Amino acid sequence: MAVRSSFPEARRPAGGAGRILVVEDEPRIREIVRVYLAAAGYEVEEAADGRLALAAFDAAPPDLVVVDLLLPGLSGEALVRAIREVSDVPILIASAKRSDDERIEGLRLGADDYLPKPYNPVELVERVRAILRRTRPVSGAARPRTYASGRLEVDPATRQYRVDGREGRLTPTELRLLLALSASPGLVLDRERLLALVTTGIGETTRTIDVHVANLRRKLGDDASAPWAIETIPDAGYRWAAPVDREPAPVRGSR
Ligand code: CA
Repeated sequence: MAVRSSFPEARRPAGGAGRILVVEDEPRIREIVRVYLAAAGYEVEEAADGRLALAAFDAAPPDLVVVDLLLPGLSGEALVRAIREVSDVPILIASAKRSDDERIEGLRLGADDYLPKPYNPVELVERVRAILRRTRPVSGAARPRTYASGRLEVDPATRQYRVDGREGRLTPTELRLLLALSASPGLVLDRERLLALVTTGIGETTRTIDVHVANLRRKLGDDASAPWAIETIPDAGYRWAAPVDREPAPVRGSR
């Protein structure tokens, strides 16, 4: 897993709504998606299979990737995994929902959302817009926040985090989850509430939240059985267990 060593600025499009890479092997669907996204102001890059998608991704990293899972050659799952190795770009899986477990598995791989086929292209554009809105820097939140007496530091603008000397980047969904939980330390939020706060909420089940919590815990190095950050409250939901520092912790020594 590649971890960036510094806090780079979040890449924003020079103009327009952003660049979307659409990975879809069916030309008809690809064309419809392209037309609708372009009409909404997005610049669209298309790829007909996973390998072409990786090449396009390397050539010019997009602001968001739409991925079909049933692709010839490299599967959509393998593609999502390969992208996640090097990038935390928002990923929307738009694919036939073969089972609920597959949907959950897609989210476990690090996708931000899952839109089942057949879908209305208008809804796909809405999901893209919603995910990118969550990705955008939050005004008034440009200053890094610290938690647990400085143990965890998160910059909402770039989604970079630093915990116990490790650095990485949260996905938009993980950042939203972290902010939702930590906004009310000690208060239990049930899965339905978190679902509404964190995801687009359409066609989602509360299991979605469990998967995102597991992903976030893994990044934070949090242990579900002895949590310092996110506590599971049986039959109730989740609770932020660590204090939120009011001001960024002072820099101590050369640490
Ligand atoms: Ca397909």
